[in-house]
Amino acid sequence: MKLLVTGGLGFIGSNFIKYMLNKHRDIAIINVDKMSYGSNPANLKDLKTDRRYSFIKGDISDRRSVQKLISNVDAIVNMAAETHVDRSISDPLPFLLSNTIGVFNLLEAIRNVNSKIRLVQVSTDEVYGSILSGSFKENACLMPSNPYSASKASADMFCLAYYRTYNLNITVTRCTNNFGPYQFPEKFIPKTIIRASMNLKVPLYGSGANIRDWIYVVDHCEALEKVLFYGKAGEIYNISAENEYSNIEIVKMILEIMDKPEHLIKFVTDRPGHDMRYSLDSSKIRKELGWNPAHSFKEALEETINWYLENGWWWRPLATERILHSTPWKLKW
Ligand code: NAD
Repeated sequence: MKLLVTGGLGFIGSNFIKYMLNKHRDIAIINVDKMSYGSNPANLKDLKTDRRYSFIKGDISDRRSVQKLISNVDAIVNMAAETHVDRSISDPLPFLLSNTIGVFNLLEAIRNVNSKIRLVQVSTDEVYGSILSGSFKENACLMPSNPYSASKASADMFCLAYYRTYNLNITVTRCTNNFGPYQFPEKFIPKTIIRASMNLKVPLYGSGANIRDWIYVVDHCEALEKVLFYGKAGEIYNISAENEYSNIEIVKMILEIMDKPEHLIKFVTDRPGHDMRYSLDSSKIRKELGWNPAHSFKEALEETINWYLENGWWWRPLATERILHSTPWKLKW
């Protein structure tokens, strides 16, 4: 199989490319990434000599380059996206361009160049919005609350519409919050680990009561592999590992594992439109595709903390003043 992975220099993309090349001898992967601030070529430096891997610098919001990119592939896993909610609040346009127009370009290119190409659109639990009790199934209404989730929800709608109208081979996945190695340091878990390791205050929005459902990135990669090979066209698959914790619980767990005091926690003004709780029912992928998360949350969290502590060479160049000391929409910590 010749697989195009978009956004493969980001967090999930680089984990996914390594996972697939380790597991499948007979796969060739082309990684297309625009190399924005969140990508890091160091993530995949081990693959330089692997003949099955190649990298192209490219932007999926550029229609002409997308047409060329897909001309010779069997399948696409689309992870290219602007992903930081805070950044989407301060500057939404790049989110519309990469996350919605970029997907539209992929769909149009598939329709015009080769309608047999399989597309897995990697989406997010955030498209459903907040749920105070129970869990969203795949047929729930979409209620995105911020420009990031709105841009992802629009892309999902285009994918499903292109399946129905043009009968394209498209499947959408919606996953909960990922954690693990190679996540950009501005995101919640790496930022908490890195700041705590430097004995800096760890910021927490509001009262820290917001609940997220966490999944180890390797479990997400395995789910994407199943969907790529066995997922049905036109279907949506929720992916979750049922590890629901409030943000304050996560920070306290990290501080405890790192043997750091809780007084490092600093409560800061809440993010506008901050969803209280995300929760997915992932029984469909478990039942239909036989996927189950293989990692325990606590062990994976410990491994992740150790990875960041041992790989300062990876995050130190990315951990600029801005990332470590303020949010993009100018909150003062
Ligand atoms: P990331 O920000 O770490 O990586 C995204 C990558 O996409 C970056 O390397 C960036 O350079 C690239 N990119 C952005 N716009 C592009 C464009 N127009 N053309 C080509 N490349 C572009 O993000 P991530 O956390 O790895 O997320 C990957 C995908 O998974 C995203 O689509 C995101 O919505 C989805 N997702 C993420 C999570 C999570 O918890 N991280 C959860 C559910 C779904």
